[in-house]
Amino acid sequence: MDRVSPRTVTILGATGSVGRSTLDLIERNADRYEVLALTALQDVAGLAEAAKNVGARRAVIGDESLYGPLKERLNGSGIEAAAGEEAITEAASSGADWTMAAIVGCAGLKPVMAALEKGATVALANKEALVSAGDLMVEAARESGARLLPVDSEHNAIFQCFDRAQPGSVRRIILTASGGPFRRTPREEMRAVTPSQAVAHPNWSMGAKISVDCATLMNKGLELIEAYHLFPLDADRFDVVVHPQSVIHSMVEYVDGSVLAQLGSPDMRIPIAYTLAYPERMETPCERLDLVRIGSLDFEKPDLERFPALALAMDVLREGGAKPAILNAANEVAVASFLDSGIAFLDVASVARETLDCYDPPAPASLDEVLEVDRRARDIAHQVIGKMLN
Ligand code: NAD
Ligand code: MG
Repeated sequence: MDRVSPRTVTILGATGSVGRSTLDLIERNADRYEVLALTALQDVAGLAEAAKNVGARRAVIGDESLYGPLKERLNGSGIEAAAGEEAITEAASSGADWTMAAIVGCAGLKPVMAALEKGATVALANKEALVSAGDLMVEAARESGARLLPVDSEHNAIFQCFDRAQPGSVRRIILTASGGPFRRTPREEMRAVTPSQAVAHPNWSMGAKISVDCATLMNKGLELIEAYHLFPLDADRFDVVVHPQSVIHSMVEYVDGSVLAQLGSPDMRIPIAYTLAYPERMETPCERLDLVRIGSLDFEKPDLERFPALALAMDVLREGGAKPAILNAANEVAVASFLDSGIAFLDVASVARETLDCYDPPAPASLDEVLEVDRRARDIAHQVIGKMLN
């Protein structure tokens, strides 16, 4: 059999939950992939170890003050060390065959845009970038011929079921939501939720920020906006259904009444592997789905009163313009405050709503304008939080 030539890969956000799952697949297929660069924000030890494990050419730490410690840890390994925001963007545009975008938050936007402008194949986990600058990202990909492969499990499922040859035959996209850890918690009790309760997701193991987003259902709201940019349907064609077992990862309904779904164990290595091997398939060590053991699958309507973040994101999807970038920025600030024992759990959605209420700029037309809207929205969200805590 012909040897498959190694494909070069770069992982942005290599020390996070998605980054580590990606590295796991690459380590298991070391002869097929050559790692050009790994990046992280502050975890020098995790970054250096991962870079050595996969024999990366370069390791980049976002926090410039950590250049010395990174260089020291890589001493004698032959791996190049680099530091700073610019160095991450440079790594993103270094021409890898496949780039995993797994930085959390709008901080990932510049590197993702750099990769797209180069015409790269980008496996996109970093939903906040697409929420903040979806139109610009899709346009950049179209111009350069870049390919966006969705990693988020719902969007990966839709991608697998969506007939791109006849988009007009799709009637509806149905995103599934687990409902998070507070699916049945009365609103009164949600007031006193702690960060450790909020990050304890029933089905998935993920980074802290997305775990809180899953608990507020803001994650599902951001995912609606993400789906809108990835699949060519009007905003009113996207629905959410709560499905607590997280077995069906999302569905596509066609005009003839057929509904196609993708199912699998809740393990991010499955959608990551799909994008890594695309358009082929690769083996993974993931648990096989045992429907008999699971027994039954449940579905219910999302409760928009107990989860106002989802209702807010639905409005923002309809309004468009600068609203998604503001929603995302305010939510990032609010989640960070909640995780830092600042505001209460139920205040996360209130901060996003108040920030949206008092800031209404025109739609940003460039990356710099998106970043300016993001910056300004963060300032306002901090002010809103300041008032709440006084
Ligand atoms: P995480 O917090 O575990 O990891 C984040 C990574 O980004 C780390 O490597 C960190 O060093 C890096 N990073 C953080 N801030 C940075 C900054 N300012 N500059 C440069 N690098 C920075 O997050 P995660 O759970 O792996 O999620 C990553 C992205 O994937 C998020 O956008 C999330 O919404 C999305 N996602 C995650 C999952 C999951 O299962 N974890 C599922 C679907 C989508
Ligand atoms: Mg998801």
